Parts: sequence; C-alpha cells; structure tokens
Amino acid sequence: MSSIRILSDRVANQIAAGEVIERPVAVVKELIENSIDAGATRIEVEFRNGGKSYIRIEDNGKGMSPDEASLSLERHATSKIREASDLNEVSSFGFRGEALPSIASVSKFTMRTRTEGWDHGTEILINGGKLIEKKECGMPIGTVIEVANLFNSVPARRKFLKTDPTETAHITYNTRLFAVAHPNVAFRVLENGRTVFQSPACENLRDRIAEIWGRALADDLMPVDVTDAKRGFRLTGLTAKPGVGRSTRRELVTLVNRRPVDSRTLGFAVLDAYHGRIQKGRYPPAFLFLEIQPQDVDVNVHPAKREVRFRDDGAVRRFVLSAVADTLAAARPSASQAPVEPPTQTEAIRPKPAPAIAQTTAPSPRSTSALRPAAATATQPVASVISTPAAEPKKAAPAAAKAPEWQFIRRLKQRYALFETPRGLVMLHLRHADQRVRFERICKDFKQESVPSQRLLIPTTIEFEPLASEALNQQLDLLNQQGFEIEAFGRHFYRVGALPAWLAEEQAESFIRDLVDMIRQRGDLRKQSEIAWQAIARLAVEGSHQRNDAIADASIQQLANDLLTCETPHTSPFGKPTFSEISWNEWSRRLGGEG
Ligand code: ADP
Ligand code: MG
Repeated sequence: MSSIRILSDRVANQIAAGEVIERPVAVVKELIENSIDAGATRIEVEFRNGGKSYIRIEDNGKGMSPDEASLSLERHATSKIREASDLNEVSSFGFRGEALPSIASVSKFTMRTRTEGWDHGTEILINGGKLIEKKECGMPIGTVIEVANLFNSVPARRKFLKTDPTETAHITYNTRLFAVAHPNVAFRVLENGRTVFQSPACENLRDRIAEIWGRALADDLMPVDVTDAKRGFRLTGLTAKPGVGRSTRRELVTLVNRRPVDSRTLGFAVLDAYHGRIQKGRYPPAFLFLEIQPQDVDVNVHPAKREVRFRDDGAVRRFVLSAVADTLAAARPSASQAPVEPPTQTEAIRPKPAPAIAQTTAPSPRSTSALRPAAATATQPVASVISTPAAEPKKAAPAAAKAPEWQFIRRLKQRYALFETPRGLVMLHLRHADQRVRFERICKDFKQESVPSQRLLIPTTIEFEPLASEALNQQLDLLNQQGFEIEAFGRHFYRVGALPAWLAEEQAESFIRDLVDMIRQRGDLRKQSEIAWQAIARLAVEGSHQRNDAIADASIQQLANDLLTCETPHTSPFGKPTFSEISWNEWSRRLGGEG
C-alpha cells in the first residue's frame, strides 16, 4: 500500500506547470505579461522551433534585486497580491506567483535581471526545477529570461505539442495582440533569427495596427469611444467601417482591461452590431478595448486561456452591441469610406458587398469593361454565362446536338427560372446553378492546367502584413501557374498584372486577401492541391456579386444546359439546392389525370 506523502516543490511545480503553461505560447504570454507589469517600454521576443527549443524575452522594465530574483522563483512568490481579498482588485496581469517557478520546472531556464540601485545584475540558472547556479552578471536595468528545451523532462506534455508552424502561429498571433494592447511599448519579435514584426512605440492604436497589419487594414477602421458612466463601462478602439469584412475572425480582437481575451459575449455582440452591414459569414476587423470595473469581471477562468466571465453578461453584451451599432449608424458615408453595396432591386437577393478595401491603386471597374468582354469571348471562360447571351452550347455532348432537355419557359421572381422537362416542371435557382457551373469550370481548368488569363490594363498593387506576405510568397509559383500574375516588389507589396479569366477584376483584391487567409489556415497548397483548389474555386464563386442581376434572360437556357453536364448538378458548391423538379405524375396526382 502506498502512503500519503507531501509532494516536493519540484514535483508540485511540474504539475502546476501543466495547468499554467500548456504550450510554448503560454510561456511567452506569461513572460510578456511580467515584462509589462514591470513597466517595460521595450520588449523583445525571440523563439525557435515554435518555442519548443528556445524562447527569450528581454525587457527594459524595473528588473529585480538579487533577493527578489531568487524569491520570484519560489512557488507563490508574487509582488502583486498579499491577501486573497486583493484578488478582486488586481490590475496587473499575473498574480498567482506560479508562472516563473512552473516554467523553470519544465525547462532549462536562465534569468538575468538588474534593478536600480545595484551596479550588477543577477543570473540564475535552473534546469528542470533544480537550481544550478546563481551569480552576478553585468547588464543594463531590466530582465532577460531564456527558456530552452521546454517540456524535455516531461515527455507526456511534449507529446501534446503541435507542429512547429502551429506553435509559431500561436506565438506570433499572441505577441501581436500584446502589441496592439500596448501601443506605447516597442515590440520586436524574432523567429529563428528573422523578424516576424517590429514596431516602435506608437502614438496611437491606428499607427500600431498599421505597423503590424498594414496601412490598408488600419484605413478600413473607424474610431469607437462610448461610455456608460452608470455601469462603469467604456468601449474604445477601432472597428471596421460598414461593408468591411474578412473571411476569418483573426482580426476581430477584443480586450478587457487591456488584456486580449477570447470572449463569446464580446465576439457575438460585435458581430450582431454588424448585422446587415456586412455579408453573412464574414467578420469585421475590429480592435476593441472594454474597460470595466475589476470586480465585474473574472479574467482567470482558466489560467492558461484568455477566457473571461462577466458578472453581468447581458449588460456587457447590450452595452458593446449598442456602442458599436451606434457608432456605425452615425458613420456618414464618405469618399474615403469603403464602398457599401448599393441597394438591390430584389429584397431576397443579398449579394456580397463590394470588395471591402481601400482602392488606392485599383482602377475603377469602368476602366476594365472594355477588357472583360474581349477576354470572355476569346477564352470562353465561365463568364460566358453572363456576358455572351447567345453563346453556342459549349459541349459537343448529345444534349447540345438535339433540343435541350430542359425548355426554358420564363424567369420568375428574378432569381428563379421555370423549365419544362420530359419528366415535369423544374424550378431552377439561378445563382446556385451559376455557382455550380462556374465552380466546376474553375476546378476543371485547374486539373487540366490550362487556365485562361486576362491582363489588367492597370496592374493592382496590394500590401500585406509581414506574415501574410510570407504565406503568399511561398505560393506565388503555384498561383502564377494558375492564371495569376502576381509579383513581389518592395517589402510586402505585390503587383497583380493578370488574373484567371474566372475572376472579375473588381473582386481581385478581396479575393487575393481571402486566398492568403486560406493559405495561412491550410498551409502549403501544393501538398493538397486539388482540395485546396476546390476551396479557391468556392471562394471565387462565392465572391461574385450581383450575379442574379447579371444573369441575362437570354443566357438562362445555356446555364441550364451547362448545369446538366456538371458532375454534381443538384447542389451549389455550398450545398444549396440548384433546382427542384415536380413530375407530371405528381401533377396528375394533384390535379387528376386526363379527361
Ligand atoms: P506573478 O506574475 O503572478 O506575480 P510570476 O511567477 O510570473 O508571478 O512572477 C513572480 C514575480 O517575479 C513577479 O511578481 C515580479 O515581482 C517578478 N518578476 C517576474 N518577471 C519580471 C520581470 N520581467 N521584471 C521584473 N520583475 C519580474
Ligand atoms: Mg506573472
């Protein structure tokens, strides 16, 4: 029988480490928080192999005396609270006094630190929780912490780490969030020796966002500043102008008391505020800071995660929703604002909003109109459905030779078309059908590696933030084999000289941005080319706008013929039905047979 025993500190720390630091990004977060708590105005983060083999955080904060340095590595040593009751009041980030000893217990840990009033610093070396050495060292005021071989001594933990790129993505994303939360702190982040991003201390949030995510995104945002004095709520920051949307929620950032958090309450409130102002399924970029009394929020629901719990969830939700919605409602449309979808004739048709981008260098759609029909007839691209009404049947399939199997009767409600078929009556959904036809053409072009391309009269220039730029760089050759002509010039700028014929020029920038988002989510497209290309095709087809208006009556017969040659004619690429057939049998059942 085993006896009960008190765990050694070392084992206790290793267990605690499992809770506080699940993965490298948690180490980075804890250490940056400490640096910010220490009043740093400059923080440098370096890591290798997704942080698994090496992490270094260097700051110019107030540092520690030799005794404080030793104490900081004791369990529950914290300079931030004394009594449990203080917990409600803490405004600093960490306060458990667990991070440093936990990290030191599962890594090769080095701390160097010096504080004012001391002419030398202190260096402490710990390996797997064992103190190896403590000595004096020379250094400026501040703290450097290095964490090597994370979880080497805890194989069970190490096993759960994801691939280097995944861990890297978490670290870079989170360091950006810190940088946004603290514009006045200079940040530099290095991965495997190369700079992921760096930003000097910035005057304001917009400059900081421009530094990290690029000027184009920063220009797409508008300021928010709303206070509810009675409840003690304030919401500040920048939020997407109406019509500006992204395909991921990565740039929908919420912070509570300057701490980046994952909060469903806040996320939904913001999405709700954009209801009707942004296409469904898209996310507004936003960087929103909620200030709230510390006792009204619990930021430590989970030690390693960024979840928060509000004392009055409903009140927070309503406040944020109306703060953002009122700000949007008050926004006067102006020339500088991103284009908003013009009203459509048919209520039920809700095409995608016009590309939500600052059109700095993009030519106006009008300048391309001379080009598009020419490209369309020359290449017989998917656009033939809309632009060449009298296009002859594309396929030499038997159906094309004889009379079409489906006979077009008339268009209904703008979005449907009625057909007579040998079996009955078909109601066709024009947009879903058009999406299916175009989708399969794009996929087929891809498989045959023959993608008709269209030159742009005036090349478009697009700026990306550094990581996006890198993701795009790695796939440039693939894209350029597929009808694109995209070349890098200068840091993070790209010139788009040609597009596949299936992509409308007005859509190019928003499409390419979505594509880069997709590349970042999926990784290397070359390894999964067909699936990836289907996703690309879906993006292209989804991105089309005003299709219903654009489908001329005269091209409806052709659309039906083309649909019938599709591999999967019954649904759109998004799983929506393309048509519904009611058989003659059904009619006679309902109405009675002959006579
Ligand atoms: P907590 O942050 O919860 O107090 P930590 O284990 O993260 O616990 O840190 C313990 C203590 O070490 C902190 O309270 C602080 O006094 C000191 N400390 C940690 N990192 C730094 C730093 N970068 N600069 C100055 N002091 C630090
Ligand atoms: Mg801490």
